[in-house]
Amino acid sequence: MTPTPPWPVTEPTPQPEEEPFYDGLLVGELRVPWCDNCDEHVWRPKSHCTVCYRAVSGWRTLSGMGEVYSYCVIHRGVEAFAAIGPYVLAWVSLDGGPTILGNVIAPQDDLRIGMRVRIVEPRDPERGQRGPVFTGC
Ligand SMILES: [Zn+2]
Repeated sequence: MTPTPPWPVTEPTPQPEEEPFYDGLLVGELRVPWCDNCDEHVWRPKSHCTVCYRAVSGWRTLSGMGEVYSYCVIHRGVEAFAAIGPYVLAWVSLDGGPTILGNVIAPQDDLRIGMRVRIVEPRDPERGQRGPVFTGC
């Protein structure tokens, strides 16, 4: 079966505290803000920890691996997504990190909760950015 397509390239407008995350996606890295006081990630990206309210200590690059927590197949997208359906919108629990929303490229028959996935390297900064895109591993 044909794999579902990746999200189209769009022009997200990240908030300043999200820029390291989106910059990481351009080189195929998943970067998350980290609080050394809690020894835990801060998600969504913020300037301060949402638990202890201290300033974020820095950013950590995760392995890019994770597993599908939940997903749905979108058959009729809107705007930039209208021409690509069906595509997959999924919550992915990252190894050592948060559960984030992303896109999974995979044959629909292979999709399942618990499926192991890895980040795809978009490497196309000239054409714009897109959210996290995963594929099966
Ligand atoms: Zn904290």
